[in-house]
Amino acid sequence: AATVVAIDGPAGSGKSSVARAVARELGFQFLDTGAAYRALAWLILERGGDTDDPATVIGALDSLDSLELTVDASGQRVAIAGHDVTEAIRSERISAAVSGVARTLPAREAVNVRFRAIIAEARPGIVAEGRDITTVVAPDADVRVLLTADEAVRIRRRFGDVGGDERQVGARLAARDASDAKVVDFLSAAEGVTVVDSTDLTFDETVEAIVRLVTE
Ligand code: C5P
Repeated sequence: AATVVAIDGPAGSGKSSVARAVARELGFQFLDTGAAYRALAWLILERGGDTDDPATVIGALDSLDSLELTVDASGQRVAIAGHDVTEAIRSERISAAVSGVARTLPAREAVNVRFRAIIAEARPGIVAEGRDITTVVAPDADVRVLLTADEAVRIRRRFGDVGGDERQVGARLAARDASDAKVVDFLSAAEGVTVVDSTDLTFDETVEAIVRLVTE
Protein backbone atom coordinates (compact mmCIF):
# COMPACT_ATOMS: atom_id res chain seq x y z
CA ALA A 1 0.00 0.00 0.00
CA ALA A 2 1.06 3.59 -0.55
CA THR A 3 2.62 5.57 2.28
CA VAL A 4 0.46 8.58 3.11
CA VAL A 5 1.89 11.67 4.81
CA ALA A 6 -0.72 14.23 5.94
CA ILE A 7 0.32 17.78 6.82
CA ASP A 8 -2.02 20.47 8.16
CA GLY A 9 -1.33 23.98 9.34
CA PRO A 10 -2.26 27.66 9.16
CA ALA A 11 -1.53 30.13 6.37
CA GLY A 12 2.11 31.02 6.02
CA SER A 13 3.33 27.95 7.91
CA GLY A 14 5.28 26.95 4.80
CA LYS A 15 3.16 23.80 4.42
CA SER A 16 3.10 23.86 0.68
CA SER A 17 6.82 24.30 -0.03
CA VAL A 18 7.78 22.02 2.87
CA ALA A 19 5.35 19.30 1.78
CA ARG A 20 6.60 19.48 -1.81
CA ALA A 21 10.23 19.18 -0.67
CA VAL A 22 9.38 16.22 1.57
CA ALA A 23 7.64 14.54 -1.37
CA ARG A 24 10.59 15.16 -3.65
CA GLU A 25 13.04 13.77 -1.12
CA LEU A 26 10.98 10.62 -0.61
CA GLY A 27 10.10 10.18 -4.29
CA PHE A 28 6.41 10.58 -3.41
CA GLN A 29 3.59 12.43 -5.10
CA PHE A 30 2.34 15.75 -3.73
CA LEU A 31 -1.20 17.05 -3.22
CA ASP A 32 -1.89 20.70 -2.37
CA THR A 33 -5.57 20.53 -1.35
CA GLY A 34 -5.91 24.30 -0.97
CA ALA A 35 -5.46 24.52 -4.76
CA ALA A 36 -8.88 22.88 -5.27
CA TYR A 37 -10.59 25.46 -3.05
CA ARG A 38 -8.66 28.22 -4.81
CA ALA A 39 -9.60 26.94 -8.28
CA LEU A 40 -13.29 26.94 -7.35
CA ALA A 41 -12.95 30.49 -5.98
CA TRP A 42 -11.22 31.55 -9.22
CA LEU A 43 -14.03 30.10 -11.34
CA ILE A 44 -16.74 31.80 -9.29
CA LEU A 45 -15.02 35.21 -9.53
CA GLU A 46 -14.35 34.65 -13.25
CA ARG A 47 -18.09 34.26 -13.74
CA GLY A 48 -18.81 37.38 -11.69
CA GLY A 49 -20.11 35.41 -8.71
CA ASP A 50 -19.71 35.87 -4.97
CA THR A 51 -17.87 33.14 -3.02
CA ASP A 52 -19.75 34.17 0.15
CA ASP A 53 -23.03 33.04 -1.42
CA PRO A 54 -23.49 29.31 -0.64
CA ALA A 55 -25.87 28.76 -3.60
CA THR A 56 -23.25 30.18 -5.98
CA VAL A 57 -20.56 27.93 -4.50
CA ILE A 58 -22.81 24.88 -4.75
CA GLY A 59 -23.60 25.80 -8.38
CA ALA A 60 -19.88 25.90 -9.20
CA LEU A 61 -19.47 22.29 -8.01
CA ASP A 62 -20.87 21.21 -11.41
CA SER A 63 -17.46 22.22 -12.79
CA LEU A 64 -15.53 20.02 -10.38
CA ASP A 65 -15.34 17.24 -12.98
CA SER A 66 -13.17 19.57 -15.06
CA LEU A 67 -10.73 20.23 -12.19
CA GLU A 68 -7.25 18.94 -12.97
CA LEU A 69 -4.79 18.62 -10.10
CA THR A 70 -1.51 17.06 -11.08
CA VAL A 71 0.37 15.35 -8.26
CA ASP A 72 3.89 15.70 -9.62
CA ALA A 73 6.19 16.80 -6.76
CA SER A 74 8.30 18.86 -9.16
CA GLY A 75 5.41 21.20 -9.81
CA GLN A 76 1.66 20.96 -9.46
CA ARG A 77 -0.45 22.16 -12.39
CA VAL A 78 -4.01 23.26 -11.68
CA ALA A 79 -6.71 23.68 -14.32
CA ILE A 80 -10.48 24.16 -14.17
CA ALA A 81 -13.08 24.49 -16.94
CA GLY A 82 -10.25 24.34 -19.47
CA HIS A 83 -8.26 27.25 -17.95
CA ASP A 84 -4.77 26.75 -16.57
CA VAL A 85 -5.04 28.60 -13.24
CA THR A 86 -1.76 27.43 -11.72
CA GLU A 87 -0.50 31.01 -11.28
CA ALA A 88 -3.80 32.90 -11.09
CA ILE A 89 -5.01 31.08 -7.95
CA ARG A 90 -2.07 32.47 -5.92
CA SER A 91 -3.28 36.08 -6.06
CA GLU A 92 -4.40 38.04 -2.99
CA ARG A 93 -7.80 38.40 -4.66
CA ILE A 94 -8.25 34.63 -4.53
CA SER A 95 -6.81 34.35 -0.99
CA ALA A 96 -9.39 36.90 0.14
CA ALA A 97 -12.29 35.05 -1.54
CA VAL A 98 -11.38 31.41 -0.88
CA SER A 99 -12.69 31.09 2.68
CA GLY A 100 -16.26 31.45 1.37
CA VAL A 101 -15.77 28.30 -0.68
CA ALA A 102 -14.16 26.49 2.26
CA ARG A 103 -17.10 27.39 4.49
CA THR A 104 -19.62 25.69 2.19
CA LEU A 105 -19.91 22.13 3.44
CA PRO A 106 -21.10 20.54 0.15
CA ALA A 107 -17.95 21.97 -1.46
CA ARG A 108 -15.78 20.38 1.23
CA GLU A 109 -17.50 17.02 0.77
CA ALA A 110 -17.12 17.18 -3.01
CA VAL A 111 -13.42 18.05 -3.02
CA ASN A 112 -12.74 15.47 -0.31
CA VAL A 113 -14.07 12.73 -2.61
CA ARG A 114 -11.50 13.83 -5.20
CA PHE A 115 -8.68 14.01 -2.64
CA ARG A 116 -9.41 10.55 -1.26
CA ALA A 117 -9.41 9.07 -4.77
CA ILE A 118 -6.06 10.71 -5.56
CA ILE A 119 -4.58 9.47 -2.27
CA ALA A 120 -5.90 5.94 -2.85
CA GLU A 121 -4.26 5.78 -6.28
CA ALA A 122 -0.93 7.30 -5.24
CA ARG A 123 2.27 5.31 -5.76
CA PRO A 124 4.59 4.72 -3.99
CA GLY A 125 3.36 7.36 -1.57
CA ILE A 126 1.92 10.85 -1.32
CA VAL A 127 2.32 13.94 0.82
CA ALA A 128 -1.02 15.74 1.10
CA GLU A 129 -1.28 19.15 2.75
CA GLY A 130 -4.16 21.38 3.83
CA ARG A 131 -6.24 22.15 6.90
CA ASP A 132 -8.17 18.93 7.55
CA ILE A 133 -6.00 16.22 6.01
CA THR A 134 -4.88 14.74 9.34
CA THR A 135 -8.45 14.79 10.70
CA VAL A 136 -11.01 14.42 7.90
CA VAL A 137 -9.45 13.58 4.52
CA ALA A 138 -6.86 11.01 5.63
CA PRO A 139 -7.16 10.37 9.39
CA ASP A 140 -5.56 6.94 8.80
CA ALA A 141 -2.43 8.43 7.19
CA ASP A 142 0.85 6.72 8.15
CA VAL A 143 2.35 10.02 9.30
CA ARG A 144 0.26 13.00 10.45
CA VAL A 145 1.86 16.36 11.08
CA LEU A 146 0.62 19.74 12.28
CA LEU A 147 3.10 22.27 10.93
CA THR A 148 3.03 25.48 12.92
CA ALA A 149 5.08 28.62 13.46
CA ASP A 150 4.48 31.73 15.55
CA GLU A 151 2.15 34.13 13.79
CA ALA A 152 4.78 36.90 13.57
CA VAL A 153 7.14 34.48 11.81
CA ARG A 154 4.42 33.29 9.42
CA ILE A 155 3.57 36.88 8.55
CA ARG A 156 7.22 37.71 7.91
CA ARG A 157 7.62 34.65 5.64
CA ARG A 158 4.43 35.45 3.73
CA PHE A 159 5.53 39.09 3.42
CA GLY A 160 8.85 37.86 2.02
CA ASP A 161 6.89 35.95 -0.67
CA VAL A 162 4.26 38.49 -1.66
CA GLY A 163 5.77 41.85 -0.61
CA GLY A 164 3.49 44.88 -0.31
CA ASP A 165 2.56 46.33 3.05
CA GLU A 166 3.65 44.07 5.93
CA ARG A 167 0.84 45.21 8.23
CA GLN A 168 -1.74 44.54 5.54
CA VAL A 169 -0.22 41.12 4.78
CA GLY A 170 -0.44 40.34 8.50
CA ALA A 171 -4.03 41.50 8.83
CA ARG A 172 -5.13 39.43 5.82
CA LEU A 173 -3.33 36.31 7.02
CA ALA A 174 -4.84 36.59 10.50
CA ALA A 175 -8.32 37.22 9.06
CA ARG A 176 -8.12 34.18 6.76
CA ASP A 177 -6.94 31.91 9.60
CA ALA A 178 -9.71 33.17 11.89
CA SER A 179 -12.31 32.52 9.21
CA ASP A 180 -10.89 29.09 8.27
CA ALA A 181 -10.54 28.00 11.90
CA LYS A 182 -14.29 28.32 12.31
CA VAL A 183 -14.70 25.53 9.77
CA VAL A 184 -11.89 23.15 10.73
CA ASP A 185 -9.62 23.24 13.74
CA PHE A 186 -6.09 23.27 12.36
CA LEU A 187 -4.65 25.23 15.26
CA SER A 188 -4.44 22.34 17.72
CA ALA A 189 -3.13 18.86 17.02
CA ALA A 190 -5.63 15.99 17.02
CA GLU A 191 -4.69 12.79 18.85
CA GLY A 192 -1.81 11.02 17.15
CA VAL A 193 -0.73 14.11 15.22
CA THR A 194 2.89 15.25 15.64
CA VAL A 195 3.43 18.99 16.00
CA VAL A 196 6.40 20.34 14.04
CA ASP A 197 6.99 23.94 15.09
CA SER A 198 9.14 25.65 12.48
CA THR A 199 9.47 28.97 14.32
CA ASP A 200 13.16 28.37 15.04
CA LEU A 201 13.89 25.92 12.21
CA THR A 202 15.30 26.64 8.77
CA PHE A 203 13.42 25.37 5.74
CA ASP A 204 15.79 22.39 5.36
CA GLU A 205 15.55 21.52 9.06
CA THR A 206 11.76 21.53 8.82
CA VAL A 207 11.82 19.23 5.78
CA GLU A 208 14.27 16.89 7.53
CA ALA A 209 12.15 16.74 10.69
CA ILE A 210 9.20 15.49 8.66
CA VAL A 211 11.22 13.12 6.48
CA ARG A 212 12.60 11.59 9.66
CA LEU A 213 9.08 10.91 10.92
CA VAL A 214 8.43 8.96 7.71
CA THR A 215 11.68 7.00 7.49
CA GLU A 216 12.37 6.19 11.15
O1 C5P B 1 -3.35 26.21 1.74
P1 C5P B 1 -3.95 27.36 1.02
O2 C5P B 1 -3.62 28.70 1.62
O3 C5P B 1 -3.68 27.35 -0.45
O4 C5P B 1 -5.52 27.15 1.17
C1 C5P B 1 -6.43 28.06 0.62
C2 C5P B 1 -7.74 28.01 1.39
O5 C5P B 1 -8.42 26.79 1.12
C3 C5P B 1 -7.63 28.08 2.90
O6 C5P B 1 -7.55 29.43 3.34
C4 C5P B 1 -8.90 27.39 3.36
O7 C5P B 1 -9.98 28.31 3.29
C5 C5P B 1 -9.12 26.35 2.28
N1 C5P B 1 -8.66 25.01 2.63
C6 C5P B 1 -9.48 24.21 3.43
N2 C5P B 1 -9.13 22.91 3.68
C7 C5P B 1 -8.01 22.40 3.16
C8 C5P B 1 -7.16 23.19 2.36
C9 C5P B 1 -7.51 24.51 2.13
O8 C5P B 1 -10.50 24.69 3.92
N3 C5P B 1 -7.71 21.11 3.39
